[in-house]
Amino acid sequence: MTNLLDVKALDAFYGDFQALFGIDFSISAGETVALVGANGAGKSTFLRSLTGLVPDRNARIVFNGLNLGGLPAYRIAREGIAMVPEGRRLFPSLNVEENLLMGTDSGRKGAWSLEKVFSLFPVLRDRRNQKATSLSGGQQQMVAIGRALLSNPLLLLCDELSLGLAPVVIEEIYAAVPQIKADGCALVIVEQDVRRALDMSDRVVCFLEGHLALARETREVSFDVVSAAYMGKA
Ligand code: ATP
Repeated sequence: MTNLLDVKALDAFYGDFQALFGIDFSISAGETVALVGANGAGKSTFLRSLTGLVPDRNARIVFNGLNLGGLPAYRIAREGIAMVPEGRRLFPSLNVEENLLMGTDSGRKGAWSLEKVFSLFPVLRDRRNQKATSLSGGQQQMVAIGRALLSNPLLLLCDELSLGLAPVVIEEIYAAVPQIKADGCALVIVEQDVRRALDMSDRVVCFLEGHLALARETREVSFDVVSAAYMGKA
């Protein structure tokens, strides 16, 4: 099977500081990869590199047959990579529906519509006319996910979906994952909690200080092995 995304030897820099070192990565259509690693390991930088938001990167990144090298972020979005960024980045002056519809800027057609997002997260239908900032953290996360889905991505990158949310809300957010996968969308989800990462993924990848420390099929790997890689004790 050909991969949806193939990354070879990705380095990323912030000025003189090197954040990623020679990362090889691939994902196939419909696959879910959990990306784990300690604070500062480079997880966000990796996602941002894939979406063209870290300009200082060297790599061969081939997505759906297209070399993404040098393409600006808006073009990459149009090719079908969407991101749910850390901190959600909603537009505070816009209401829920307006924030969601920003996702349609990609111009991509597909299964996701406003109605479908409202059926995934019904609370957003009730709040559609409220300012995004009046929502709870979990509801704002749902808006960020819905906005990304409305770009009808082939690959959805999620940075720390559970950050700062109560356990019951985290469950609610993760309950949406199977429905997102059902349309064949591939997912990379950054997750600090190793158990949760193992629960929801087909494959688990761990970064350690900017290096790839582990990449395995989830069913072939134990909690202890992933935890050891996470802490640099593998
Ligand atoms: P976290 O869980 O804290 O978000 P992370 O694994 O996502 O961690 P990154 O945010 O990718 O890690 O950071 C990787 C390294 O790059 C860290 O050492 C961080 O300090 C550095 N870094 C991240 N963003 C910038 C930036 N804009 N300018 C300079 N250095 C940065």
